[in-house]
Amino acid sequence: MTTYATLAQEARAHWAALHERPWIRVGTAICGKAAGAQEVLHALRRAVERRGIPATVTPVGCIGLCFAEPLVDIQKPGRPRIFYQKVTPHLAATLVEDYLLQDNPRPDLALGTLGGRVEGIAPLEEHPAWKPQVRIATRNCGTVEPANLAHYIANGGYQGLAKALTEMKPAQVIEEVTKSGLRGRGGAAFSTGAKWNFLARAPGPVKYILVNCEEGDPGAFNDKGILESDPFTLIEGCTIAGYATGATKGYVFIRHGHEGPITFTRKAIQEAYKAGLLGKNILGSAFSFDMEVALTGESYVSGEETALMEAIEGKRAMPRSRPPFPAQVGLWGKPSNINNVKTLSYVPEVVARGGAWFASIGTEKSKGTAIVCLSGQVARPGWYEVPFGLTLRRVVEDIGGGTGTGRPVKLLQTGGPLGGVLGAERLDIALDFDGMAQAGAIFGSGGIIVADTATCAVDLVRNLVAFCQFESCGKCFPCRLGFTHMLEVLDRIAAGQGRPSDLEAMRTIGQAMSLGSLCGHGQLGFNPVHSALRFCAEDFRIHLEERRCPTGACEPRLSLPKRTRPEPVGGWYARHSYAHH
Ligand code: SF4
Repeated sequence: MTTYATLAQEARAHWAALHERPWIRVGTAICGKAAGAQEVLHALRRAVERRGIPATVTPVGCIGLCFAEPLVDIQKPGRPRIFYQKVTPHLAATLVEDYLLQDNPRPDLALGTLGGRVEGIAPLEEHPAWKPQVRIATRNCGTVEPANLAHYIANGGYQGLAKALTEMKPAQVIEEVTKSGLRGRGGAAFSTGAKWNFLARAPGPVKYILVNCEEGDPGAFNDKGILESDPFTLIEGCTIAGYATGATKGYVFIRHGHEGPITFTRKAIQEAYKAGLLGKNILGSAFSFDMEVALTGESYVSGEETALMEAIEGKRAMPRSRPPFPAQVGLWGKPSNINNVKTLSYVPEVVARGGAWFASIGTEKSKGTAIVCLSGQVARPGWYEVPFGLTLRRVVEDIGGGTGTGRPVKLLQTGGPLGGVLGAERLDIALDFDGMAQAGAIFGSGGIIVADTATCAVDLVRNLVAFCQFESCGKCFPCRLGFTHMLEVLDRIAAGQGRPSDLEAMRTIGQAMSLGSLCGHGQLGFNPVHSALRFCAEDFRIHLEERRCPTGACEPRLSLPKRTRPEPVGGWYARHSYAHH
């Protein structure tokens, strides 16, 4: 029988051995690869081999500082990690010569250190993009090799599950999660403890935990980031959720084409099975739990929880009418809970360190941290885990470094295409589920797209509406026709041919969508237009009255919806069927 103590002992020994020789870690998540990290990884391996240096070179995930990719850190035995940004293959070979052979850490090339000081290099903890962070769900990202179980356990992994199985009844786990104040990070911000309670109380021997990594929002990449950097934290969280609710199986639902998250999550699940952390009688307990990865097709709406279940069942991803709710009738007709990747990734630490610890971070109603994805016109794009309560200004200006274009911020587009637009005058509101909703936008799953004054709000909004129109599943007509109609009106305004009645027409359409649509896609569909009218009314006025675009961004063309992802490769659906149940 595998015990946690044995696993932890072996993992710590493995981790200690890694630190007995120089260790080079290369960020090879999607952001790193896009910047050339794979070539840097090969160059480092070649340089180390050519010079006969006994160093370990390991690909790791993303530490969140995407602006610095390709990011390499080198740690000599007993010394801090030194991070080097925007490393090229040539620079990689230079670092091997200078630091590993000559012991010159090249302060002129370094971004910062972690775990101690090196003369001439500022600690990363003092860097404006790192300083405000409190890393809980992302604590291992960029530090461990993804899907390496020993790395995960050596850094405190599976303490939460071991504690839950040996010291807590399922109801106590739910109580601890409820006490933590953890709310769903997928957009709805519902209490996770309350949600688990519904499932725990549902009758029947078969129940499911569904993990949502559809993550189709433009500007959101934190779910994918966790899965391709540290998938075990999600797997452990999902297993704890299974124990707490009496669920028998977990499905991790990942969008087709997200190869890094799919590969690493599958590999990590296999490793967990091998170590007795999934399957029958986990860690020698009476609790058994299975997990697998299920793939979605090409639909943004399949991120909606009931559409997600339809997709796993192999049907077209269209939302179901509710009631019945998933906690009563979910996947394959069995009680189910749908949780976002981020939500479950907090759970191991919440259980290991206690709900009160988690609740001590953040604001009164938004506990813990927010994992913010910064993109758009921002100097330091990346994903950052910060306590709730930080102002948007600190996120955008301190962490993100401002627009980086020399022009001031005009607006933030938050919470995905259905979230909304916030004007620059709202930069001093706190990052908070409820505060942002009151201000006219939503936090959603953490995407913040920054736009400077060269952006036209009409152009931005019609692109958002075009995305939503294309992604509408078409099941109900207020959404299907509402987006189409709204896009026609926006195209007309953008082309300088708007009518005086157009704004009122869009309000009427938006109201019908909100009242008559079956799911959030249509119900929230007016949000981008509504919020842009509130914060950027001048852009609409200039288009309507002066018949011109204030920034020149609107071209006289129709923004017909475009495909948002690659064409399916012949037969992929058959190869990735959802027939395992
Ligand atoms: S609101 Fe839109 S996405 Fe949702 S079911 Fe209706 S048509 Fe489909």
